[in-house]
Amino acid sequence: MKKHNFSAGPAILPAPVLKEAGKAAVNYQGMGLSLLELSHRGPEFTAIIEEANALMKEIIGLPEGYQTLWLSGGASTQFFMAPMNLLNAGETAAYADTGTWANKAIKEAKGFGNVQVVASSKEQNYNFIPKGYKIPRDAKYLHLTSNNTIFGTQLHKFPKSPVPIVCDMSSDFLSRPFDPTQFGLIYAGAQKNLGPAGVTVVIVREDLLGTVQRHLPSMLDYRTFIQENSLYNTPPVFPIYVSLLTLRWIKKNGGLKGMQRRNRTKAAVLYQEIDRNPLFKGTTAVEDRSLMNVCFVMEEKYASLEKEFLKETEANGMVGLKGHRSVGGFRASIYNAMPKSSVQALADLMADFAKRKM
Ligand SMILES: *Cc1c(COP(=O)(O)O)cnc(C)c1O
Repeated sequence: MKKHNFSAGPAILPAPVLKEAGKAAVNYQGMGLSLLELSHRGPEFTAIIEEANALMKEIIGLPEGYQTLWLSGGASTQFFMAPMNLLNAGETAAYADTGTWANKAIKEAKGFGNVQVVASSKEQNYNFIPKGYKIPRDAKYLHLTSNNTIFGTQLHKFPKSPVPIVCDMSSDFLSRPFDPTQFGLIYAGAQKNLGPAGVTVVIVREDLLGTVQRHLPSMLDYRTFIQENSLYNTPPVFPIYVSLLTLRWIKKNGGLKGMQRRNRTKAAVLYQEIDRNPLFKGTTAVEDRSLMNVCFVMEEKYASLEKEFLKETEANGMVGLKGHRSVGGFRASIYNAMPKSSVQALADLMADFAKRKM
């Protein structure tokens, strides 16, 4: 049966990417060797990481002064590595508390300097994106989470900030065009929108580094990765390769504008059904709805049908739709690689289910 993968992460990858990755795992470019058994210092991998960096620069439109780094440790490592590299003890960083991941970033940053939470939607279970808050001019940076994977909200417009923005883009990285110059640092765990788990992309404005007094272990100093082209130690070779394949796929499919067009169309199919269907309702402020993670629940009086609907999605090959425990209901993650046909299949099932139950 055709599967529709709505998992939040690790998540769906483009079918041609998986096919190519499968080939590379067995026999890379007809060499009679797997990419998994090739040296990270050999010409094959050098070509891979150079192309990946060049494509990242081209697809985003990164200006001079920005470096792309390939790290391990997940986005969760960036929760502390960013303040460790950017914030001195006694200095202040501003944070927007817009979800579970933002909250974890706040907790970790407190170990390195003063953290000022300038906005929060925690009291309302993170069901909206705070706007119009003051950003202190003397903050070292403003930390934002562009898409709140668990709660299904997304920043559709970044605030004008007097200080560089540090942004966790894990779950909407490369899903739409953005102006890189407002960011001092961007990080994204690959497993939502780019590649397999095991690699984290960091894009950093180089001139922001080297200003902290503390000792930085080599592996936790962004400058090490800049100097060594992410090859100070053995990098996650295969996840980087698969990420390169996705970058090629993005370029071929219209770049970030193409991704945005696809993502808007897909999300509209689902939100229209949620709004139209008497059984279901959304869980977030309408203007902050995420194009990546669509969260919805059943109207209270039909709540007893939740399990039955989930069973039906599974019977129809739909995977990963159970909502996160902090929201309940359902979450359809419809990242870049998710085809519109899968989103349509879910919307059709919702419509059909309502017809049978009402
Ligand atoms: C998944 C996710 C994380 C955590 O990523 P890891 O790579 O598992 O550490 C952090 N932030 C956001 C927005 C996420 O979606």
